[in-house]
Amino acid sequence: SQIESPYFFISSDIPATILKPRPKYSHKGTFGHALLISGSYGKIGATVLSAKACLRSGVGLLTVHCPAAGYTILQTAVPEAMTLTDKEADFISELPDLSIYNAIGIGPGLGKHPATRQMVKHLLNTTQVPLVIDADALNIIAEDENLKNALPPNSILTPHPKEFERLTGKAENDYHRLDLLKEFCQKHSCYVVLKGAHSCIGTPAGAYYFNGTGNPGMATGGTGDVLTGIITALIAQQYSALDACILGVYLHGSAGDIAKMEMGEQALLASDLIQNLGKAFL
Ligand code: AMP
Ligand code: MG
Repeated sequence: SQIESPYFFISSDIPATILKPRPKYSHKGTFGHALLISGSYGKIGATVLSAKACLRSGVGLLTVHCPAAGYTILQTAVPEAMTLTDKEADFISELPDLSIYNAIGIGPGLGKHPATRQMVKHLLNTTQVPLVIDADALNIIAEDENLKNALPPNSILTPHPKEFERLTGKAENDYHRLDLLKEFCQKHSCYVVLKGAHSCIGTPAGAYYFNGTGNPGMATGGTGDVLTGIITALIAQQYSALDACILGVYLHGSAGDIAKMEMGEQALLASDLIQNLGKAFL
């Protein structure tokens, strides 16, 4: 019998087979409507980055739900996005009607206000739609075992190593961390993008996909928010969770590598990834 390795390396041939061309007779409805739930006072920048990245990743329509204080910022910085505002000025406390969206991304810049925690709890307890979950949404979930167990199946979580540690507890070493990744994905039927120099995607089937693109210039604030936007856009376009993760991390890293060719690593900003997403897709 054949023994199949659960370890895969994402080189350029895999994403090339996943990427779908845009049909000639398409319209914006063809590419889905994404909802981004993001932001709190002082962190609306995360929302802007995530929204721009989502729009640069082919989504048909994007609506952003943000604190009321983010309204003018969003409408000015990202005119292509529709903006829904929370009743609260500085944090998110409520959910819009979720029924019209093909994908929901939550977390960048969210903060952990008690009302925001309640909103996350409400979201997990009311929707079975797979979510893209990042940043403080992960931190909120990590602090409550019931919330972990309420994760909609096939959700995508995008923790950096510290957020991952909050979710699963401390790993003794890198091998143990991969065991924890597999256990978490299997237990909660979800996909986890464990971010880092070689981001690793864990799957409910127990496979590991390691990304080959990206560089240390990307170790700077906001780059994770960009990834959340990209993956949310891909889910809205009906890519499977695994394909969205693979294509997302690959394109995100490629955009960073293209930006690096122009300006090196030191000066690289999260915004530069967004600027270079077009070239990464090409
Ligand atoms: P966050 O910590 O949420 O802002 O996410 C950081 C993003 O940058 C992730 O997508 C990481 O994979 C990426 N990143 C951070 N450091 C590196 C590195 N040294 N090499 C490649 N990618 C990196
Ligand atoms: Mg982050």
